[in-house]
Amino acid sequence: MAVKRIRILGSTGSIGLSALAVISRHPEHFRVVGISAHRDADALAEQRASLGRPPVVLADTGAELPAGETASAAEGQGWSVGREALIEMAAAPGADIVLNAIVGAAGLEPTLAALEAGHTVALANKESLVAGGDLVLDAAKRGGGAIIPVDSEHSAILQCIEGKSPASVAALTLTASGGSLRDRSATSTAGATVEEALDHPTWSMGAKITIDSATLANKALEVIEAHVLYRVPYGSIRAVIHPQSIVHSFVEFVDGSVLAQLGLPNMESPILYALHFPNRVPDRELRTFDPVASSPLTFEEIDPVRYPLFGLGRSAGEAGGSAPAAFNAANEVAVRAFLGGKARFGEIVEVVAFTLDAIGYRPTKSLEDVLAADAEARRIAESRLRTIKATRS
Ligand code: NAD
Ligand code: MG
Repeated sequence: MAVKRIRILGSTGSIGLSALAVISRHPEHFRVVGISAHRDADALAEQRASLGRPPVVLADTGAELPAGETASAAEGQGWSVGREALIEMAAAPGADIVLNAIVGAAGLEPTLAALEAGHTVALANKESLVAGGDLVLDAAKRGGGAIIPVDSEHSAILQCIEGKSPASVAALTLTASGGSLRDRSATSTAGATVEEALDHPTWSMGAKITIDSATLANKALEVIEAHVLYRVPYGSIRAVIHPQSIVHSFVEFVDGSVLAQLGLPNMESPILYALHFPNRVPDRELRTFDPVASSPLTFEEIDPVRYPLFGLGRSAGEAGGSAPAAFNAANEVAVRAFLGGKARFGEIVEVVAFTLDAIGYRPTKSLEDVLAADAEARRIAESRLRTIKATRS
């Protein structure tokens, strides 16, 4: 098997670090040929030193290089800074796989650039598909790039449908852990602290997605992601609470047969699958499944009163146009405010609902349309946060 050259966008985050752990166990299969982060220069410098000094991008224009480093004269060789440099790294030739592990809609343009350039994109950045849906599919078609999902539920679906006709798929069921606050009474979650909301029972993940798991906004994003990736109508995509996070998704076929993919809640498994797709390779670290130890496996309906963001996000997906981009952007703003101590947990849904009402529906035909909807939703959400704060004090 030839060595695959991999770029990791967002290499300092939770998925980026898991990917590097997987790659370090398979040195004969992979070489890292580019890494990026938003502004964590020191972490990037350490990674670079251990990876044979690949090119590095700090995406934040204001980010400072680590002491002793200078931006490279030849673009794409040493250190580069800024969004343009990030997009160039995504598109540059010389990679077999671009792993997009950036958090948020900031990942959309790199996804588009990598696909237009014909790369295979291992996609953790679900926000790309939520905000940019059809644009992302068009970019893949035009450029010849392929999308391999890293999200565990979507990896599970791929593993169940691989080699089967799309017409044979009747329905998808995604599972959700229920998040960090699932065992608290619905009324007491509104005032949950950041620490409580970040304490996830089954998955260890970045801060934003951990909060999205507690509100179930994450599952709404994932329903949209599944609709875009697998072209299954919204009416045939369901999500259920599965507190053990062992079954990652179910696929029901037209003959009534159901396949599911199972595994311990560990993102290294879907990353390993995405990087080797369509092959499977042994990895002893990941082979620990025991059905008896994992039992019982239970499934429950999602309570719409407890998780209003799930229904809101799903409806935004069904509305289409600018709505999913607006839902995602408003949610990003509200979650950042919560993590920064500037909003209460219960105010996240209020900000998102207000923004979706205020922004209305618009068709989105181009990247500019999507970016405009994203920017406007952020403005409305910020303004709503200020109003909430003013009425609170
Ligand atoms: P994280 O916050 O741990 O890491 C995010 C990475 O993106 C960091 O390297 C950061 O420097 C970089 N980044 C942040 N803002 C950026 C910007 N504006 N421009 C460029 N780079 C930026 O996030 P994570 O938990 O690793 O999640 C990454 C993506 O994977 C998200 O879309 C998330 O929904 C998805 N995902 C994560 C998990 C998980 O277990 N963590 C599981 C499934 C899907
Ligand atoms: Mg997921």
